[in-house]
Amino acid sequence: AGRERLATASGPGRTSDGHPVKLMLNIGSVADAQAASGAEGVGLFRSEFLYLGRRSAPTHEEQAGAYAAVLRAFPGATVVIRTLDAGTDKPLPFLGLPSELNPALGVRGLRVARRRPEVLDAQLDAIAEAAAETGAETGGQPWVMAPMVTTAEEAASFAQRARVRGLTCVGAMVEVPAAALHADRLLRELDFLSIGTNDLSQYTFASDRQHGELADLLDPWQPALLELVARCAEAGLAAGKPVGVCGEAAADPLLATVFAGLGVTSLSMSARSLPAVRDALARHSLDQCRQNAELALAATGPAAARQAVAGVR
Ligand code: PEP
Ligand code: MG
Repeated sequence: AGRERLATASGPGRTSDGHPVKLMLNIGSVADAQAASGAEGVGLFRSEFLYLGRRSAPTHEEQAGAYAAVLRAFPGATVVIRTLDAGTDKPLPFLGLPSELNPALGVRGLRVARRRPEVLDAQLDAIAEAAAETGAETGGQPWVMAPMVTTAEEAASFAQRARVRGLTCVGAMVEVPAAALHADRLLRELDFLSIGTNDLSQYTFASDRQHGELADLLDPWQPALLELVARCAEAGLAAGKPVGVCGEAAADPLLATVFAGLGVTSLSMSARSLPAVRDALARHSLDQCRQNAELALAATGPAAARQAVAGVR
């Protein structure tokens, strides 16, 4: 066994031999950002809370104020703001979207901008304003990313809309298999990727993410899912750009070592999951993480993958 370091309740994510894997926070409100967490930044700021259950869009001031508050809570750190992930399955009356038979496969996430481009533009304007307002005091620039990006063309169009507003760090969530398969092409347009394993599992295994009966198919240890993560991470390493994981899977300590071994550069999760993941990384060298990744990829199924990695030592 290699040298083991004692886990700490805070501090950056590192393997036992010092390879960095950023430990980031998933948040869904300004209050989440202001609670102490020991995270290195925000890997996923779900902006839906600004819009849910409303009859009219939030004002420019309201939006810019919320983004500025989160940026101020993490001075100098990376804060990734995700643009609105609306869909016809979410109650957003002000969007006036017609109901759909198959909302998960319909006009959701970035696709809403096809019908209502002004909603995305208003959000990007507010993020740019928050960046300008806080830039001098925090020394940082927000990162901005779109949900449900499916093609490199969509990535390019989102990037263009963000960059004309002075936003310099633009990325996409990888939640659709097509986006994972073309991760290299997406990264020609973008500065980073963030893998949303919740939706990526749903769309890769054709299984509703809420469907309890299909839990085995939705298991993030599924080797086919890990292969898509590997593909994204390899594209990131080749391009020299960050590729993180921000789905629930990032909070599984043993799976975190697999992700690190695949080349993922950050893991984003809820505050309560951070210590165990930090601990698991600190107990494995990068080589051990790579070995875990190989074992998981080669396994016949999720249970076998978990068992193979857990059984190593
Ligand atoms: C995901 O799909 O993995 C994700 C992080 O986004 P959400 O859970 O908000 O759909
Ligand atoms: Mg998602």
